[in-house]
Amino acid sequence: MESGESLDLFDVRRLLIGEDIPYAFLAEVILRTAVMFFIVLIVLRLSGKRGIKQLSVFELAIIISLGSAAGDPMFYEDVALLPAILVFIVVISLYKLITYLTGHFEKVEEFVEGKPVKLIENGKIIYKNFLNESLAYDELFSQLRQQSVSHLGQVKFAYLETSGDLSVFYFPDDKVIPGLPILPSIYNFPCKEFVMKKTYSCTHCGALRPGIQEMGSCKTCEGNEWLLASDEPRLR
Ligand SMILES: [Zn+2]
Repeated sequence: MESGESLDLFDVRRLLIGEDIPYAFLAEVILRTAVMFFIVLIVLRLSGKRGIKQLSVFELAIIISLGSAAGDPMFYEDVALLPAILVFIVVISLYKLITYLTGHFEKVEEFVEGKPVKLIENGKIIYKNFLNESLAYDELFSQLRQQSVSHLGQVKFAYLETSGDLSVFYFPDDKVIPGLPILPSIYNFPCKEFVMKKTYSCTHCGALRPGIQEMGSCKTCEGNEWLLASDEPRLR
């Protein structure tokens, strides 16, 4: 850009196409876009992916690498097609190489894709695994609610998959155990008074404890908010 003084703000021609570019360049944009579009299409088909629902970090890295190589040559007059195509060839070759390595070496797979992490076991949050993952409680609870889970005692296991999806395994209705309610209307209002013989759950890790007058803090996570545990079956 030239100095601020010579910049003609809101110059219509500069806004629409750029100062030194003839309008005929738009015809070239059509050709450039068509070429890059078909290259992207062919390369994605060759990569063997059938579609994209949740991207792993590895796939996201590829999309980011390819993104500007695909888009820039479509409309920047000084970005040529061949270098962009070379970028595609290199990134897809690396993709194929790394896919091969992840298939043959477990360590490479762990590094590239990560591994599934168990977040819930027998209705309790596995607190130490949770701390290592960049997942917030409200995110976990939200995903569980989408599976019609109203309290953690309905969940036997939950795994955070490498794609970011949550896999949930349920207790059958007659085996549901008391657990931490996760409906916002209940979860956001921790108990102030406690009743003997009722079971309470730590809002932070789901640990259970029978009610006493002074509940104090949780032995597992040192949280100090408690909710009356629910043992309702899952509604579907
Ligand atoms: Zn706790």
